[in-house]
Amino acid sequence: MKKISTKLTASMLCLTFAVLTFVGVALIFNMTLEYYRDFNVTVSALFESEQFANSCTDTDSLFKYITDNEAVLCRDSEKECYILENGNIVKSTKSGGLVHITDNLQRVLDGGVTVKSDITSDALDYAVHTGYGRVLYVRDTRADLYAGIADMSFLFLQAFVIGIVLTLLLSILISKRLTLSLKQLERGARKMQNGEFERVTVSSKDEVGRLCTVFNEMGEQIQADFDEFSRIENSRREFVANVSHELKTPLTVIKSYSQTLSGMDVDADTRKKFLAVIDSEVDRMTDIVGKLLKISRLESKSTILRERVDIRAAVTEILNALQIKAKEKSLEITVTGECCVVSDGEKIKTILSNLLTNAVKYSETGGKIQVTIGNNTVCVRDNGIGISESDLPRIFERFYRTDKARGRDTGGSGLGLAIAKECADSIGAKLSVKSQLHKYTEFELEIKNE
Ligand code: ADP
Repeated sequence: MKKISTKLTASMLCLTFAVLTFVGVALIFNMTLEYYRDFNVTVSALFESEQFANSCTDTDSLFKYITDNEAVLCRDSEKECYILENGNIVKSTKSGGLVHITDNLQRVLDGGVTVKSDITSDALDYAVHTGYGRVLYVRDTRADLYAGIADMSFLFLQAFVIGIVLTLLLSILISKRLTLSLKQLERGARKMQNGEFERVTVSSKDEVGRLCTVFNEMGEQIQADFDEFSRIENSRREFVANVSHELKTPLTVIKSYSQTLSGMDVDADTRKKFLAVIDSEVDRMTDIVGKLLKISRLESKSTILRERVDIRAAVTEILNALQIKAKEKSLEITVTGECCVVSDGEKIKTILSNLLTNAVKYSETGGKIQVTIGNNTVCVRDNGIGISESDLPRIFERFYRTDKARGRDTGGSGLGLAIAKECADSIGAKLSVKSQLHKYTEFELEIKNE
């Protein structure tokens, strides 16, 4: 039996069969016992009375007593009465002789006084020694008992058929309901094996229903983990592709310039120019590798320093370093406000340095940069080239540049904001951006004061 439904149906059928058989046998047994008890009560009442003892003087008065009481004797069963003298029948209520001598009769004929039947006897009869060498023998044909048993058996047969049919229908219905959820679970599990998740309908609150709920929760968790894994795997692939691409470009430039230098006879000026290009490409590669190492260190390092950081002093220090570039572009830089926080100073300086370098880098000649220091916040705003709405959500991604070609010209690698964001996350700070293309860009850093 491979199917639960078959097993369930078979078990229910066996159970119905067993119950009906037990009830049937018990009823028939009780009916027989009651029949025997009734016989014994009737014969005792009739043949153990004083009236009976008085009628035992001669055969005729004894037979008259029997016929007078026939209505009581044969009230609800068919009985035969015999009067025997010296072992021979002298009178009987039934024509013809005794078919066979029963154990009870034999015992009385052999000298016993009264013998009654019980359910283990070979016949339902009663024999009594009435004196004067006479024996009264009463035998119940049990025809009524057999008829009753036959009726009861027929009734039970009908009940049996109806019971089996009902059980079959019921078990099919129950097993269908039960196996429906199990089949759904099996289908869901098979789909999950192939990496697909399909919710299972929870149609009950029983064990199977609870199993379906757990299955759904498990599936959702696996799906979420799988999505997260796919996302990480995709970003890893993208990252490797980006790193390769970013490093390949300077390497190609270096290779071609060095080949030209070694293969051609070039004048001192050209050689100087070529070497300057090689030098700048090496710087670029060093910068990228340095930034990548910084990101990797940030990702693995969990220790955060707690020190007093003067934000205004940090901003001034960074702006001093950017002074030459700012002057080249004739930028107007204003710094307002001041504040001190307890946090990781190095990380805050890294963030601010990236924001201020970008503000200088992406401002046009004569542009304005405003640094506003508030209570645990720093806002860096420039009126430079701005960022388009479509680029804005991605600018914190590694290697993301709004304009790839220009990014390279300005020496940008698309890693600065990724580092800034990583630093902000690690110290529990919030880094957000607002911008409008060709109008302004505003970065706000909200520092968690430890
Ligand atoms: P990059 O080294 O290219 O500057 P970042 O990660 O610092 O890399 O910046 C990512 C991109 O975000 C930049 O390429 C630039 O397109 C844009 N961006 C960042 N800051 C500004 C800004 N202040 N104004 C305009 N665009 C900006």
